[in-house]
This record gives sequence, structure tokens and C-alpha cells, in this order.
Amino acid sequence: QSTRRPLMAGNWKMNLNHLEAISLVQKLAFSLTEQQLADVEVVVIPPFTDLRSVQTMVDGDKLLLGYGAQDVSAHSAGAYTGEISAAMLAKLGCGYVLVGHSERRAFHAEDEAVVNAKTKAALGADLTPIVCVGEGLEVRESGAHMAHAVAQLDGALAGLSAAQVERIVVAYEPVWAIGTGKTATPADAQEVVGALRARLAESFTAELAGRVRLLYGGSVKAANIAGIMAEPDIDGALVGGASLDAEEFASIARFR
Ligand code: PEP
Repeated sequence: QSTRRPLMAGNWKMNLNHLEAISLVQKLAFSLTEQQLADVEVVVIPPFTDLRSVQTMVDGDKLLLGYGAQDVSAHSAGAYTGEISAAMLAKLGCGYVLVGHSERRAFHAEDEAVVNAKTKAALGADLTPIVCVGEGLEVRESGAHMAHAVAQLDGALAGLSAAQVERIVVAYEPVWAIGTGKTATPADAQEVVGALRARLAESFTAELAGRVRLLYGGSVKAANIAGIMAEPDIDGALVGGASLDAEEFASIARFR
């Protein structure tokens, strides 16, 4: 493996108001040592309404935690009621934003073009997009899961320069494993994540592919993270449910 620093990102989804967010971030900061936070990058991804509170805590107490948003507008500004721009997120100190989470794809009809535009918007504001790809159960059962993930990756990265692609993170999240308690086996996850890295090598260079961080997501918990992290191409996890419990998420971050 590599010089790639492990990344554990907690997607809170539509949970926790800003007061609850403060409590969870405090507990998380207490649960991890500075050394652990230096070894592994730990990022929380709360709802938009919590971001200011998280920023205030992280800045005020100089916490070694990153934070980001769950979605971003593809547009830069203007008449887009209800949307939040990448520049607004950057101004709040966000380092990351999820793009193309399967729940956005499923409930908000985000297609490859939207995912590509949002990826570009994030990069344009110096945010790191965590681009999510992954197949549903039907695709998995048909055996087309690798081609599916690679096609989603190609779609998300269309028109990006090598310098831009180096700055992204990709999360492989099989939809059938999200929130279901069904984790892909480490070997299943490695198979697809390895194919994504091979695709980056083919589309760009092996050196570039060796630098991009690739995550697994789908029912990750403290009890299964070690096996997942033992796979050579998996550099971290995107964690939903288990990231709402500070102790559990801290244990995931201490996966070794
Ligand atoms: C997610 O929402 O990205 C996710 C992986 O959820 P869970 O860990 O709850 O399966």
C-alpha cells in the first residue's frame, strides 16, 4: 500500500440538529487522541444546518477533525431556491462534499450529468468531492457491478483534468449494503475498488491512480472495519448509521 492517508468520513444523513451536532463532535474529539487524528483523517458530514456549529467548535478548539456537506448545487449562484453553492460551503470552512450519494441519485434523480456538474462545482471552490458510486441489488445479481461502478466513475469525471482528478475521493457504496446491515465482504469491496483504481490508471496514469483515495461504504461498523481496511486498494470508509455514535465511529477510526 501506500502513502495514502486513511480517511473515515461520517455521513450523518438527515439526523441531528445543531445542538446534537455539537454534542457528537465533542464526544468524538474526546474519544480520539491527537496521534490517532494525525494517522487517520476523520471527517464529519452533517446536515447543512449544523455546519456553522461544527465550524465554530472545530475552529474554536482547534480540533483535528474535518467536515463537509452532503450535497452541493451544480450552479454557482442565482435563482436556485433552496440550493447551497460550493463557494458557500468553502466559506464555512468545509473541506469535503458528498457528490452523487445513492440517496441523491434515487430520491432526487441525480444522473451522471448532474454528478459531473456537481463534481466540477466542488472542485471549482477547492472542496474535495467524495464521489459516490455503486450498484443496486439487481445489477449485483446480474454480475454487471464492476462495469456499473466504472461507468459511474467515468461519468462523474468526464472532462476533468488529471490535476482535478488527483484531488477527488471516490466512495464505492453498493446500494444493497447501505443501511441494510449487509456489508459487502472485504473481497467483494476490493474487487470493485481495485477496478476503479485500474480505471483511473487507464484513463490517467498509474502514479495518479496510486495517489487517489478510494473508500468503501455500506454498513461499516467497528466490528467489520479491520477486514475492509486490510484490502490493498481500500483507503477508508464512508460510514452512515455507525457515525452517529461517537464511540463507534471513533473505534472505526482506530481500525488498526
Ligand atoms: C452511507 O450513507 O453512505 C452509508 C454507507 O450508510 P450505512 O453505513 O448506514 O450503510
